[in-house]
Order: sequence, then structure tokens, then C-alpha cells
Amino acid sequence: MKRIVVTGGAGFLGSHLCERLLGEGNEVTAVDNLFTGREANISHLMTNPKFKFVRHDIVDPIDIAADEIYNLACPASPPHYQYDPIKTTKTCVIGVINMLDLAAQNGARILQASTSEVYGDPPAGEHPQKESYRGNVNTIGIRACYDEGKRVGETLFFDYHRERGVDIKVMRIFNTYGTRMDPADGRVVSNFIVQALRGEDITVYGDGTQTRSFCYVSDMIDGMVRLMNSREGFTGPVNIGNPGEFTIAELARKVIAVTGSRSKLIHLPLPQDDPLQRRPDITLAGAELGWSPRVQLDEGLALTVPYFARQIELGATA
Ligand code: NAD
Ligand code: UDP
Repeated sequence: MKRIVVTGGAGFLGSHLCERLLGEGNEVTAVDNLFTGREANISHLMTNPKFKFVRHDIVDPIDIAADEIYNLACPASPPHYQYDPIKTTKTCVIGVINMLDLAAQNGARILQASTSEVYGDPPAGEHPQKESYRGNVNTIGIRACYDEGKRVGETLFFDYHRERGVDIKVMRIFNTYGTRMDPADGRVVSNFIVQALRGEDITVYGDGTQTRSFCYVSDMIDGMVRLMNSREGFTGPVNIGNPGEFTIAELARKVIAVTGSRSKLIHLPLPQDDPLQRRPDITLAGAELGWSPRVQLDEGLALTVPYFARQIELGATA
């Protein structure tokens, strides 16, 4: 049994991670300021004596005993991280420093939820993206608070590792979807499913030819736990994502098929700096972690749609 801290533990990925770690018999403390996270995501864990929820903002230091720290706290959806971009940068920089200091004090191993966004908008020659690709990010654009924040996060992780001997693991997460996403989250899978279930127009930004590679949540959590438990000295960064690549228009058609919806596609302007293509090279994850995704997009969408249908019944607003 380990004492594990999960920052962002009331969010989409964090709540699944807490559940998995409790299932393995660990003591888990979820630390979350509930900016985008929801108590409903963890209410079923509250009766477990090994689970604790601490409402706290990681921009302020915190002292908790821990053997392992998973640092997931950070808004992940563009509308949410752009809502207060200065706060997003603080979470990515000051928050990460606080969590690295906590790891150093405890002698704990710490994992950072970094992102494929560190690659920015990769050119054709850098597709799929390997961990060695250094990225193409607009430092002054509206995505930079998140992209550059996460890049500095990686820098801090490696400097704490080199300078203070902190035991680090850095994962680059590619687009992930599944149950417990907030219907109002604003990311593409949740938007499309909610729109399709309500019979509303499906909002494709731009011409819909931009691509993403979508990973189902259970595969992502499995990759995360494997990375935390990987061999001494393996720091990453390592890509975790599903290499199945789809255009956004293809995703919209799949969502219409799986929901049986009569919704129509409409086109809205493409947001600034929206990456044109994204697909992980997962060779390193296979070699080091023995990881590859199991759930492909059609199956994952079919697993996710009933959850959103229930949220709509419960009166979710999006
Ligand atoms: P989410 O928005 O559902 O979860 C983020 C959680 O962090 C929320 O519960 C939120 O309340 C909390 N939080 C935000 N700022 C905080 C702060 N200052 N202090 C304490 N808590 C704070 O998003 P998610 O999809 O679960 O993402 C989790 C992590 O994974 C994030 O770090 C994100 O950058 C990373 N990631 C996710 C994806 C994805 O596709 N889901 C892709 C790349 C990276
Ligand atoms: N997108 C879209 N309609 C939506 C939401 C998003 O067409 O209602 C597009 C968005 O422009 C991007 C892709 O879907 O090209 C993925 O967007 P998301 O916000 O989910 O993730 P990210 O851009 O961070 O990969």
C-alpha cells in the first residue's frame, strides 16, 4: 500500500485514476480546487476510508505525506484554460514548483501530466510526433498559456531531477475522452456527443480536415500507472495516446452514427493556432512500458454515449 496524492483528482482523468489506485489498495488523497473538476466525479469514492479529498489550489504550497504524486491539476479544455490564461500559467509553473517541492520533501516519485500540445502545430515532416520532436508553438498566441506552461512544466521536472535528484516521470498525453468528461467541457468529443444527443447542429470548427488521435480513458489510465511504476531511471518524456488518426469531420460522422442522431454538421471559424494534425508515435511506450491502446474509437464512443445521455437526463447544461 502506498500513500498517493493525485492533484486534479476531481477532474475527468484524475477521478478515474483515483478509482484505479484505490482499487489496488492504496491510500489516495485527491487535491483539487474544483475549477473544472466536480465533486460528482468522486462522490462514489467518499465512503472509502482510504480516500480523502482536499479542496486546495496547487498555486499555494501544501504539505501532505506522500510516496507518489500524480500531478494532473490544470484545466485541459481550450475554453477553460483560456478563461483565465494568467491563472493557467500560474498553475503550470508555480503549481508545478509546489508539487516538485512536495516530492523533494517526501522523497516521493512524481509524474507530470504533460501534453501533445508541447508539439504545437507540427509540420508534415514531423508526423506522427516522436518524443524527440521539439515542437512548433506560438509563444504569444491564445493557446500559449497552456502549451508554454506545460513546456516549462517539463523543464522544471528535468531541472528538479538533475539538481535535486527528484524521481520524475513525464508523460505526454494525446486527446483522451470517455465517461466523467464534463458535458460543458468544450472539447470536441463531449461537444459532438452532447449536440448529437440533443439533435442540435454539430459545430465543426474550420473545414473539419484537421486531425486528432483519440484515446479512450481506460487505456490512458493504464499507461499512466505503468509509467509511474516503470523502471528506476526511466524519466520519459513518453507519448501516451491512440495512433488511430481521424479528421474532425470523420469524428462528427462517427458520433452521428453511434447516437443515431439526425443532427447536421455546421462549420464555425477555426480557432487561432489550432493544430492541423496530431498523431502519437508510441514506439517508446511499447518498448518501455509494454503499453498499447486496446479500445478503438468506435468502441470507445459506444462506451461513452450512455454516460452523456444520463448527464442530459440529469439536466446537464452545455
Ligand atoms: P479536467 O479539466 O477534467 O481536470 C483537471 C482538474 O484539475 C480539474 O479537476 C480541476 O478542477 C483541477 N485544477 C485545475 N487547476 C487547478 C489548480 N490550480 N489547483 C488544483 N486543482 C486544479 O481535465 P483532464 O482532461 O482530466 O486533464 C487532466 C490533466 O491531463 C491536465 O493536466 C491536462 O493538461 C492533462 N491532459 C489531458 C488531456 C486530455 O485529452 N484529457 C490531454 C493532454 C493533457
Ligand atoms: N473542435 C470542433 N468543434 C468543437 C470543438 C472542437 O471542430 O465543438 C475541433 C478543434 O478546433 C480542434 C479539434 O476539434 O481542431 C480538437 O479540439 P479539442 O478542443 O477537443 O482539443 P485540442 O484542440 O486541444 O486538441
